[in-house]
Amino acid sequence: MQKLVKGLHAFQKGYFARHRKLFESLATDGQRPETLFITCSDSRVMPDLITSAAPGDLFVVRNVGNVVPHPTLPGGTSAAIEYAVCVLGVENIVVCGHTQCGAVQAILDPASVGELPYVKQWLSQADAVKRVIDEKYGHLEGEARMTAAVEENVLSQIDNLREYDFVSERLDAGKLHLSAWVFHLGRGEVFDFDPEVGEFIRVRTA
Ligand SMILES: [Zn+2]
Repeated sequence: MQKLVKGLHAFQKGYFARHRKLFESLATDGQRPETLFITCSDSRVMPDLITSAAPGDLFVVRNVGNVVPHPTLPGGTSAAIEYAVCVLGVENIVVCGHTQCGAVQAILDPASVGELPYVKQWLSQADAVKRVIDEKYGHLEGEARMTAAVEENVLSQIDNLREYDFVSERLDAGKLHLSAWVFHLGRGEVFDFDPEVGEFIRVRTA
């Protein structure tokens, strides 16, 4: 806890003091984020940090495994997606998975979370990913298999997003853009799915 309070102190004296006007205007005028960013709860993935986002830029939804539940399974994540799209009118939705994701490991090996009933049930929503990996990537092992699973998981969640009427309507109208990202932890790089080539391509930043 002491570490958190020390951090809060540093934030108030440093970042907040330098950006006081921004925080005041966000408090007065409300938020208008352009992007809904759906990612994993993993502490090593920091959406604002990796995109250099300012307060008010990203509407962030985090859960175990960056899962987008099917529209027939409402819950907190679905509510956040609905609010971001229908009320805030975000223009982009990014689903961002990451390498070394424990949730994806559990999707590949459900028995490993047999003693964690909530985790097991939550991740059972993504069991289609395991089938895809078993069918298409049987030749891969170790890290390559894991990365493929992380990528397939993100694509599967993008498919689920399209199932929401309010998402598909805005996609058809050209008012919304979906991105499938994978953050490579040890390299600080992001790979973005390019539908035209059917592969994840490293986002060029310079
Ligand atoms: Zn994760």
